[in-house]
Amino acid sequence: FFAVVEGVDGSGKTSALAHLKKVLEVEYPDLILTREPGGTPEGNAIRGLVVSSGTLNWDPTAELLVMAAARAQHVAAVIRPALEAGRVVLCDRFVGSTIAYQGAGRGLDVNSIREIHKLTTGDLQPDLTLVLDVDPEVALKRSHARLSGSGVNEGRFEALELGFHQRVRESFLAQASANPERYAVIDGHRDVLEIWNDLNQILSSALAC
Ligand code: C5P
Ligand code: MG
Repeated sequence: FFAVVEGVDGSGKTSALAHLKKVLEVEYPDLILTREPGGTPEGNAIRGLVVSSGTLNWDPTAELLVMAAARAQHVAAVIRPALEAGRVVLCDRFVGSTIAYQGAGRGLDVNSIREIHKLTTGDLQPDLTLVLDVDPEVALKRSHARLSGSGVNEGRFEALELGFHQRVRESFLAQASANPERYAVIDGHRDVLEIWNDLNQILSSALAC
C-alpha cells in the first residue's frame, strides 16, 4: 500500500508522518517512511541542489527534470521494491507536489509533467494521498520560525511570494476534488492531536480494506 502526504511548506506533514509511522508500525512493522525530494543517497544529493537556499537559480524546466531524476531513483531503488514485497510505504510528497509546485507554482504544463511521470516511474500512483490543508499565510510563518532556528539550509521555496504558495495550495485541493476516491483533505489549522488522529483513522481504515 502506497500512501502519500502532501501540503504546502509548513503544513506540518513531516511531524504528522513521524507520528503516523510510530502508530502504524505496531500493526505494520515493516512499514517504511520516506520523502521527496530525497529518499535515497542520490535523491538526497539532488535535494541539496534544489531545496537549499543557496545561490543556485534553476530554470523551471531544469528544476522539473532534476526533481524527476530524484524520483526515478527513489521509485526504482526504494518504493517499488518495498511495494512488491508487500510493505506499506508512507511518503512525504510525491507527484502531487510536482503538479502543485512545478505546474501550478512555476507555470509548467501539467500534461507534460504527467508524461515525465510516466517515463520516470511507469506511472506509479499512490493508493491514497492525504492533503494536509493549511493557509500558506499561516504555514509559512511556522516554516520560517522552524528554519531560522534549525540551521538547516532549506529555505529556497519558502522565500517565494505568497501567491506562489497559494497556487500550490489550490492545486492540491483541485487534485483532491478531481479524484476523491484516492484523496482525503485534512484541515490542518486545528490542534495537532486532532489532525494526527484524523490522519491515522483515514489511513488505518484504508489499510484495513
Ligand atoms: O516538504 P519539504 O520541506 O521536504 O520539501 C522540500 C522543498 O522542496 C519544499 O520547500 C517544497 O516547496 C519543494 N518542492 C518542490 N517541488 C516538488 C517537491 C518539493 O518545489 N516537487
Ligand atoms: Mg520543508
